[in-house]
Amino acid sequence: MLREVSAGGVLVRHTPEGWELAVIEPQREASIVGESDKKRHKQVLALPKGLIDPGEKPDQTAVREVCEETGLTGRILAKLTDIKYTYVRAWGDKQRVFKIVSFYLLQYESGTIDDVSHDMRIEVKQAQWIPLEGAERRLAYRGERDVIRLARQHLKSQIEEVQP
Ligand code: ATP
Repeated sequence: MLREVSAGGVLVRHTPEGWELAVIEPQREASIVGESDKKRHKQVLALPKGLIDPGEKPDQTAVREVCEETGLTGRILAKLTDIKYTYVRAWGDKQRVFKIVSFYLLQYESGTIDDVSHDMRIEVKQAQWIPLEGAERRLAYRGERDVIRLARQHLKSQIEEVQP
């Protein structure tokens, strides 16, 4: 089986209304053709992530991918966990891929949400802030929902350190 290794980020900011999280709505790929209309039009929310480049460390990938996909820069607070899943490539020879994605917790530093390059629109339909509270119910993938729970636990235990 093919393997892919990616890294991504849970980038958060503190607002008067509470913690917010930066998520993306990925562009859906051709594999959804054939799904029901209801499923096709359902908004999919996911965490920003991407493949680790040669020579890059996973935490660097997380910061870079979050920036490219959301327009936001953050600093790493902690490593959260690795998630694993398999999928079948919708293109080419339809190979099965085993994938590991390392997720990091990042604190927002600068940038404007969804201020992404023209090229990035191929991957990202839209980036948006959503409340961290209840965010796991809005994310499409179970592995990423677990990542959000870990992020919330981490912020609860470290609250004095990260609150502005
Ligand atoms: P990357 O963002 O790492 O560059 P990619 O956009 O090429 O990767 P994925 O986001 O891994 O690829 O998506 C490939 C397939 O896996 C898609 O069909 C997607 O719906 C599915 N997928 C994405 N994330 C998960 C997940 N956490 N759990 C299960 N399936 C997922």
